[in-house]
Amino acid sequence: MPVFFFGHGNPLNALDDNAYTRTWRAIGASLPRPRAIVSISAHWYIPGTHVTTNDYPRTIHDFGGFPRDLYQIQYPAPGDRGLAGEVTALLAPASVRGDESWGLDHGTWSVLCHLFPDASIPVLQLSIDETQAPPFHYDLGTRLRALRDEGVLILASGNIIHNLHAYAWGRHPAEPFDWALRFEAQARALLAAREFEPLIHYEALGRDAQLAAPTPDHYLPLLYAMGASSDDDNVTFPVEGIDGGSVSMLSVRFG
Ligand code: ZN
Repeated sequence: MPVFFFGHGNPLNALDDNAYTRTWRAIGASLPRPRAIVSISAHWYIPGTHVTTNDYPRTIHDFGGFPRDLYQIQYPAPGDRGLAGEVTALLAPASVRGDESWGLDHGTWSVLCHLFPDASIPVLQLSIDETQAPPFHYDLGTRLRALRDEGVLILASGNIIHNLHAYAWGRHPAEPFDWALRFEAQARALLAAREFEPLIHYEALGRDAQLAAPTPDHYLPLLYAMGASSDDDNVTFPVEGIDGGSVSMLSVRFG
């Protein structure tokens, strides 16, 4: 299985038919059917590494102020308790806690409703431990790599650039900020060359990186996808674009 990082952007992408969502649909249709999906979403950023163990994870509408139709969306994929146990064993000695309180948040379902609209493939979510430094997240990604050989799709969902202070709410289209264009070009070049060290230690990349990732939550999923990639994977960017001037919709495919 390939590994993906998806830039999910605005929750309204779940309802929209646009260039991003049409490409998400084409990607889903072109992939072999995964046995299961392990999703690392920016929106489950908590003090600990948890994995969902629900037989039927609920669809979480974790946002406010959006149209009513968005709250009606359900993504009724089953869970996979056995796979949750396997993930827990793979990530040792990191401590992983089974969790039935969460479910699937919009970082997961706003993409999956286009990728696999029938919601029949089991989905787990893995939380991002907010108390850990970036190398920890890359390292967990490397331990997830083995799942690819078992037909499990690893799907990391965030945004390489996610600055909502600068985002042009309701004033589309907006020209991308210079710092966003620079940081995205730098990240793409490093990813394509598999030069991961600067991306793991992104906080040292200077002011463009600080503006791109003013908080770590939407950036860190990328480190899981990088970790789960292999040296012989092709690196491609099937979706691109900067939304509202300051949110990169760049997707990265390894393999
Ligand atoms: Zn988000």
